[in-house]
Amino acid sequence: MPIRGMLRFADAVSSFEDAQFVVVGVPFDKTTTFRSGARFAPTVIREASLNFERENFEHGVSFGDIAVQDAGDLYEEGTVDEMVESIEEEARRIVSAKKFPMFIGGEHSITPPIVKAFGEISCISIDAHLDYRDEYQGLKNSHACSHRRIVESVGKGNAFAFGVRSISADEKVEDALYADAFEIHEKGVEKVFDRMLAKLKRKPVYLSLDIDGVDPAYAPGTGTPEPFGLTPWDVRYVINKLGERLVGFDVVEVCPPYDNGNTSILAARMMREVMAVKWKSGTAKAKK
Ligand code: MN
Ligand code: MN
Repeated sequence: MPIRGMLRFADAVSSFEDAQFVVVGVPFDKTTTFRSGARFAPTVIREASLNFERENFEHGVSFGDIAVQDAGDLYEEGTVDEMVESIEEEARRIVSAKKFPMFIGGEHSITPPIVKAFGEISCISIDAHLDYRDEYQGLKNSHACSHRRIVESVGKGNAFAFGVRSISADEKVEDALYADAFEIHEKGVEKVFDRMLAKLKRKPVYLSLDIDGVDPAYAPGTGTPEPFGLTPWDVRYVINKLGERLVGFDVVEVCPPYDNGNTSILAARMMREVMAVKWKSGTAKAKK
């Protein structure tokens, strides 16, 4: 039988009540600083998700068994600050129902309000940029300030950035916890990530994937590309290492007007990876 309806993320056919994972798009890119267009990403990433088989071969899971709802897109016609408030409200709705949010940006300013909705958790941002400015172009909620807002919300020592290779003089780096892409390349992702992860005090982890953390060779469609990035294998390692500790995920800064298609495919595939890994870890526990 055909399925009738609007475009939705692949296999996201559950109701909110039944879902373990809830997908929300945020087509928002008002604070973009270089190339704009991230607002088109939720639709394009949903389309890209239809590329994959329902079966996830290496994890031995089928998305036919994983309950996912696509809650659609969140629009806000007001200011940037009002947008951020609306995202927090939406995240609270999902978190208070004990479901796993999967946000699709939009730009990185969407992440701090989601993290805030969780309260006492740890947060990891994969990002080329430290995003640690106190404000940018007069905005506290700029995408250039996202990591700083996250640290303010979860507290120092409960968040780090991974894959960083762009830090400006006004970011006061002595405050921030991060691992740079050069060290990851030299020593290997396992060694550096495991060392960083051991620093986090709280077990539940929210993972934010700013797609520009990945090298532009793999992810060219992004607003502020930065060479010498992580590989998709590095990101895959991070997701699998976190496993059952994952409590929420977003992928941000995909910019379809600059994409050849590979970036949105990669973003959709990483969403599938998170859901497969998290679902598998919960199922394994239930079987004990
Ligand atoms: Mn960022
Ligand atoms: Mn970035």
